[in-house]
Amino acid sequence: MRSLVRLIVGSWVAALTCGAAAGDWRIQNDLVNGVARMEECLTQGQHAEAEAYAQMILLKDQVRVCVEFGGVMDPAAGARLVENATRVWSEALGGQVAFVLVPSSQADVHVRFARSVWVDAARVSGSANWRRGVLRWGPSSYSYQVAASIEISTESPFGGAASPEAMTQALLHEFGHVLGLTDSPRVGDVMGPLRLDKPTTHPTEAEVLSLLQLRSQATSLLAQAQAQSFVSKATTDR
Ligand SMILES: [Zn+2]
Repeated sequence: MRSLVRLIVGSWVAALTCGAAAGDWRIQNDLVNGVARMEECLTQGQHAEAEAYAQMILLKDQVRVCVEFGGVMDPAAGARLVENATRVWSEALGGQVAFVLVPSSQADVHVRFARSVWVDAARVSGSANWRRGVLRWGPSSYSYQVAASIEISTESPFGGAASPEAMTQALLHEFGHVLGLTDSPRVGDVMGPLRLDKPTTHPTEAEVLSLLQLRSQATSLLAQAQAQSFVSKATTDR
């Protein structure tokens, strides 16, 4: 059977207003806008806010993940699948993003296995809802927040058990959204449709490159923000 099953994008609550959305179509608009906002902050000398945006894009802190097995997935097998998916992404990005499994109360990303997953009355292999944003605590105090809820179907939308490979693509796809990628129309991309007889178990070079380019932009802007912060401290402390 050759079937294409769409993996569904979750809704996403953009924390940013729209700006110049140039750049790679694979990257979510709120992150493209985040880079634009950083540039704006730097020209205005708002280095603390720029730093928070950079940290949000770079996922500077460990991404804390918990897994619920819902009585439909062997916990050891489920944990292996999630650990594998996060390791594949982490390695693809040269270890720049770290994922760690934690109890539910401490998690940013909640992964839940369910017998079936539905989005808009359609059965899907996986779905994700995510949000990210920069929070302002005071005149020059900021932090960032990334949160996501991922559901993975343990059954194929056409009946029968989903293969570990199909669940792996579903997990890589949904974590790809957490990292900042959009859906792709191309079969063979992890962000593309799932071909049940031939799931994709690694991100493509183009998908990895898109994220690395975004991250390198954010890293360079972060260095500028930190240099501004240093100069401003030196000036204040004199
Ligand atoms: Zn998607």
